Amino acid sequence: MIPPIASRFVAGTTASGALDHVTDCNADGMGAIVNLLGEHYHDPEPAAADADTYCHLVSELAARNLDGCVSVKPSQIGIDIGPDVFESNFERIVEIAADEDVFVWCDMEDYTTTDTTLDVVEAAAQDHPHGVGIAIQANLKRTREDLQRLVDVPAAVRLVKGAYDEPPSVAYETKAEVNEAYEDHLEFLFREFDRGVAVGSHDPAMLEHATDLHEEYGTPFEIQMLMGVREDAQRELARKGYEVNQYIPYGDKWLQYFYRRVRERKENALFALRAVVGV
Ligand code: FAD
Repeated sequence: MIPPIASRFVAGTTASGALDHVTDCNADGMGAIVNLLGEHYHDPEPAAADADTYCHLVSELAARNLDGCVSVKPSQIGIDIGPDVFESNFERIVEIAADEDVFVWCDMEDYTTTDTTLDVVEAAAQDHPHGVGIAIQANLKRTREDLQRLVDVPAAVRLVKGAYDEPPSVAYETKAEVNEAYEDHLEFLFREFDRGVAVGSHDPAMLEHATDLHEEYGTPFEIQMLMGVREDAQRELARKGYEVNQYIPYGDKWLQYFYRRVRERKENALFALRAVVGV
């Protein structure tokens, strides 16, 4: 059981709880991106078990006719064990998802995994054009080259600022630098990716920039935000006609994820404190 305090950010511990939350999002005019919490498995068994769960999830999303897809972490399905383990688990999920017409996103983890993640997602995209997408991090200095590489790959791109503490040799250090890079990369995406862009950010400035770029280039875009973060804005944007997809984590490994959300923002920490002391 997840305590009420964490249920703002995590949709329960079971797939059925997550699917109920997808149904609620759909009722509010939003799509959903379901993520089973889990990362850094060093044994093949849990990696294969989570891949199995994703296969089950995509079948359930299709069976219930929900507007939803999944997002998988590389280290959850074997990248720490070896690229071949990651690749075969990812392929297995993508095959079933393609049969069910469900989209598969691949999250991006720290910079040591970027090359392998790109290779595996690119191979899956060649086998299943427009069935997969990849998160790309604006804080990494290499990102423009990665986006250039992806121009001709039939995969979607979700641009995020980047959630990992990276060494200064590979990543921008200040918020201002990351924001500037994010805006530059968005411009590149709207110009070069006429198939569409996913804007993975809660930042009103980035969303405004995306709207301006859409007006300039006509490129379609979707907004992706996390469950529990700016939920009112998510619903308001959906009401205004924007395509909004909520990223919905679930599973019994919720504590670490919840802790991350609380740590990253003063308001979230206050929310947690209020829930504990009851004010
Ligand atoms: P921030 O830079 O955190 O905040 C900028 C502004 O946004 C704030 O000043 C405020 O105005 C507004 N804002 C932000 N949070 C709140 C809040 N709680 N309440 C009110 N206003 C707020 N990272 C990865 O490294 N790999 C991934 O695969 C990945 N996938 C992601 C998928 C999705 C759908 C999302 C939304 C994020 C993902 N991230 C991923 C995380 C991402 O890299 C950032 O760490 C995270 O989104 C914070 O950056 P931000 O752009 O949302 O805005």
